[in-house]
Amino acid sequence: MANTKYVFVTGGVSSSLGKGIIAASLAKLLQARGYRVTIQKLDPYINVDPGTLNPYEHGECYVTDDGAETDLDLGHYERFLNTSTSQANNVTTGRIYQSVIEKERRGEFLGKTVQVVPHITNEIKERIQILGKSGNYDIVITEIGGTVGDIESLPYIEAVRQLKWELGDSNALVIHLTLIPYLSAAGELKTKPTQHSVKTLMESGIKADILVCRTEHELSEDLRRKLALFCNVRQEAVIQSIDASTIYDVPNLMLEEGLDKVVLKQLVLQDEDEPNLDNWNKFLHRHKNPKDEVTIGLIGKYVELQDSYKSILEAFIHAGAENEVKVNVVSIHSEYITDTTIKKKIAHLDGILVAPGFGERGIEGKIKAVQFARENGLPFFGICLGMQMAVIEYSRNVLGLKNACSVEVDAHTSDPVIDIMEEQKNITEMGGTMRLGSWDCELVEESKVFDAYGEKIIAERHRHRYEYNNTYKEQLENAGLRTTGVNPKTGLVEIIEIPDHPWFVGVQYHPEYKSTVANPHPLFIAFVKAAVTYSKHNISAKVSQG
Ligand code: GLN
Repeated sequence: MANTKYVFVTGGVSSSLGKGIIAASLAKLLQARGYRVTIQKLDPYINVDPGTLNPYEHGECYVTDDGAETDLDLGHYERFLNTSTSQANNVTTGRIYQSVIEKERRGEFLGKTVQVVPHITNEIKERIQILGKSGNYDIVITEIGGTVGDIESLPYIEAVRQLKWELGDSNALVIHLTLIPYLSAAGELKTKPTQHSVKTLMESGIKADILVCRTEHELSEDLRRKLALFCNVRQEAVIQSIDASTIYDVPNLMLEEGLDKVVLKQLVLQDEDEPNLDNWNKFLHRHKNPKDEVTIGLIGKYVELQDSYKSILEAFIHAGAENEVKVNVVSIHSEYITDTTIKKKIAHLDGILVAPGFGERGIEGKIKAVQFARENGLPFFGICLGMQMAVIEYSRNVLGLKNACSVEVDAHTSDPVIDIMEEQKNITEMGGTMRLGSWDCELVEESKVFDAYGEKIIAERHRHRYEYNNTYKEQLENAGLRTTGVNPKTGLVEIIEIPDHPWFVGVQYHPEYKSTVANPHPLFIAFVKAAVTYSKHNISAKVSQG
């Protein structure tokens, strides 16, 4: 195809309408028709990336293969499309300004006054077109974070206006996602907020081409006609997005509404062949018709906000479907796990996952949970900090190193079984300085992880500063904590296991980032399977005990 086409997704009326899911669903439909598609997120905040944000602020920080710390929407893009994203797929206002200011310092503006228009808007336009100019994509979908009318969004909206004008209507279009609220007292759906938000967009010179309307109730033909007339779009371009029981239903809902067809028609692209969603629908069928269920405890300290562990929760959905079981995930706050509460909180579960995290808070509760799982044969999966806690627990309670700790928690511990790497010691800047992105790992053949992956060299994504301390490796191995995955270049330990436990695996990396609908993650599949086995065994044990 000669030139790349651009689709912009803006939001109106309210935040949290799910622009990311709509963008991902449209991309899925276009991909299922054979187009090469990618999605980009532009975030109007001043942080250079979300890496320095507390999960309570903005949910999980998602990490790409190339080590970018990004918005969690990129996780949805990868899970839907099964293709890798990169640094270029997430740009923030902070990043834009940083780059313009660096250019100014280098004298690249040749003495001109540097201004929001044209310099910031030009930088935004360039960032939008980087993916298109790579030649790798037929269609680039760009999601503009925030809500139309926000002060922060203005330069982005202006950049979209200019690009639309430069590229022309058959090469660029705008989808506006809005909310149609239902007033129960009046028993009516209301279009006025949408009319206003379309008008706000119009004041910035942008005519929405397609309206996607989030709603709790079906939009009638009359209401669609009214929206089309007052918002200046064709009636077929009024798309209903009704609340769904799972985000994975949204591509099919958008297909029924014809969103992909309207997009292709305006972009003058071939729309005859129906999208092939066979594998997607097979997954959906398994997801919705589980034959059994298991309950997993997710032990972390950001559990009040579901978005903090988004990728882990989604990975359980993929692995559950693969095993044809429903995975109930119960969140357990690690701060509340004590000797007196632990049995009540954990004993009834079929497995526990000790989550990633930073800092000291809730550490001891995590260590207690690991000990309970280890001693009771309960399936255990430790991710990043969770793996580090397993090493500390083993050192303290099996090796007898009572003070064993991570230097992140106790800088002066006599037994730093989790230590800071030499390269990290002199780093003072927080942003973008951890061990990030994809790293190779070589697996030991006789191990649970090798059984799961079925290959010797794997690559997984990292985001951490501290590491397993190899000084203790021999001692730990001799005591039964096996090292089953090591980075072939650096010798850093990436995986630990207990061979004579039903399933006890800790990984220094984040497997959850690579789990997709098309490729559920092998370790999540194996962990859920172990939980199923455990739950069956547990039931028969309970029955035989009378
Ligand atoms: N805080 C730990 C470290 O930096 C673990 C990080 C994580 O769980 N992502 O090493």
